[in-house]
Amino acid sequence: MDKGIWIAGVIALAVLILLFVRSTDDEKEGSPPPVPAPARQPESGVREESLQCPVCSGYGHVMVQGRTGMTRRICEFCSGQGGKILRIPPGHVRCPDCQGFGKLPRQGEGTSFALCGRCNGRGYIRTPFQPES
Ligand SMILES: [Zn+2]
Ligand SMILES: [Zn+2]
Repeated sequence: MDKGIWIAGVIALAVLILLFVRSTDDEKEGSPPPVPAPARQPESGVREESLQCPVCSGYGHVMVQGRTGMTRRICEFCSGQGGKILRIPPGHVRCPDCQGFGKLPRQGEGTSFALCGRCNGRGYIRTPFQPES
């Protein structure tokens, strides 16, 4: 009968001690833990860059002239995503021509696109000025 209360008391005490130890540890810390320098990418790491769609400016839709005036249409360049995540393998950089999308919007035609000839649609090219192996 009393045993249950006793055990509960011990547990409560243990929790209190734990909390006390933790809080004093926090006080001792003083400064936040050092943030590891993100200077180097991991050797096998693939860089991820988020790209904003140049056609719809990230909105995912464009306004086009329809029969009844301006209508909203899904941006076909980014499939309504507003952009995309480009995964760039080591030794490569984002394609400067298509900005990583692998295709280029054709002037004048809102929904027609040309494959980027510089990166062949991959969105990235080999790092410039890298000695040929
Ligand atoms: Zn778009
Ligand atoms: Zn390109």
